[in-house]
Amino acid sequence: MKRSKNKYSFGNLYWRLSAAFLVILTLIGVAYVYITIHHSAEYFNKVSQLLNRNVATQIVKDTKPFKNGKVDTAVLEEMFRHAMAVNPSLEIYLLDTQGKILAHSVPENKIILDKVDLKPVTEFISNHGTKYITDNDPRDVNAKKVFSAAPVVTDKILEGYIYIVLASEEYVAISQLLSGDYLMQVGLRTMILTLLAALLIGLVIFRVFTRNHRKIIEVMQKFREGDINARIKIKSTGDTKQLAESFNEMANILTQNLDKVNAIEMLRRELIANISHDLKTPVSVIQGYAETLQMKELTLADSDRRRYINTILQNTQKLEKLVNELFELSKLEANQVVPKKEPFSISELLNDMYNKYQLIAKEKNISLETELSKDLPPVYADVSLIERVMQNLIDNAIKFTPEGGMIMIRTHRYDNHVEVIITDSGIGIPESEQDKVFTRYYRTTDNFMDLKESAGLGLTIAKKILELHNSSLKFMSKENSGSSFSFSLPVYKTK
Ligand code: ADP
Repeated sequence: MKRSKNKYSFGNLYWRLSAAFLVILTLIGVAYVYITIHHSAEYFNKVSQLLNRNVATQIVKDTKPFKNGKVDTAVLEEMFRHAMAVNPSLEIYLLDTQGKILAHSVPENKIILDKVDLKPVTEFISNHGTKYITDNDPRDVNAKKVFSAAPVVTDKILEGYIYIVLASEEYVAISQLLSGDYLMQVGLRTMILTLLAALLIGLVIFRVFTRNHRKIIEVMQKFREGDINARIKIKSTGDTKQLAESFNEMANILTQNLDKVNAIEMLRRELIANISHDLKTPVSVIQGYAETLQMKELTLADSDRRRYINTILQNTQKLEKLVNELFELSKLEANQVVPKKEPFSISELLNDMYNKYQLIAKEKNISLETELSKDLPPVYADVSLIERVMQNLIDNAIKFTPEGGMIMIRTHRYDNHVEVIITDSGIGIPESEQDKVFTRYYRTTDNFMDLKESAGLGLTIAKKILELHNSSLKFMSKENSGSSFSFSLPVYKTK
């Protein structure tokens, strides 16, 4: 038998869950580092803008960049130098009222844009720099940078703007390098630590969670290896409980079915033994008498010869009856008999049976009587099969009623049915034996009859036939008082 993998193999649920968990944790860690780095850059920019929001206003207060409507280059150069000395990360631009760059503190060859969008600038001024806003970086077409800006007003006339890019190119490069590196390191360490801790906790939790699962697999393996009494005993809830219960139920059904199969197998063996026995007895009788006839052909008296031939005939009939009954029952049990239902008069059938059995009953000094309801409607059934049922029941009644007894055939109409009742004053069936009556080959142990007369198949056949009519065979019996067998048939419905 192919053995399953070791319970610690990496294919089992526990390791699969752990691996999936590790992958999830790694993904979360990477996402965490990425989001932290991304958002920290924005955070630095916001801080920088808030801290430096008044720089431009301060510069405008100290310096007059226009003289008689023209750019005062000398004043500006001085201001640029001064400002850059204090904070080299600042890039200062003088804009006209349309946003055009008039002068700047940046080397000429680095300027790409000649204009700055004034919309964010005016918004910044009206908000006093409290809102996070970005605008053009003249050195980079695609970049949006934080800035500080202030209007240049001379004699209440707006002459332009001082526009300062706060995170200069160098500043951005250095801060990104530092922050990226720093955050990367912090992020990685946090991630690795969190990962390890979570993994450790996860491994323990999964171990606990899959414990029942492992137990279930162990029991299933035991069951597969032949221990049919192995059942899952776990304290669990939810799916695992359902799984365990389903397995236990399935195992119970399987074992029950196995018991049934074993019982059927036993019955089958018993049946073969019984059949062989029942066939053997008449066959050896026939053989014995036939041999005697052959041997003593000339010396045998006429009366003996007749007796021998009679015995042979009786046993041949017995054999024939037995074989026929066996054949009949096997056909019924294989569902090969389909009743040909038709409406017929049950009274007529019962009267015919009465006439047929009257003589036989008389021979045994048994009084056979009928008490049939008047105007019985036709019933709907297979007439020859029902005749077979009646035959078996009356045969039994005669067989098990001693001389001087009585047999009564009655009918009873109720709802849309006619009930047929055969009562005898015979030996009855002991209470302890009553549940075996419909078992194939059952015969009460203390039958006063010659056992060879009966095969124990009659009632089984009758029961099967009635089942084919969706009916059943009922009986009541009292030892030494008599028995009463009954069945019902549906009344034929005219449309
Ligand atoms: P058989 O009559 O061939 O033995 P049945 O299946 O007809 O087989 O009956 C089974 C057994 O039930 C009989 O052997 C007998 O012990 C018991 N039985 C059936 N009918 C009666 C009856 N009317 N009175 C007493 N016992 C009966």
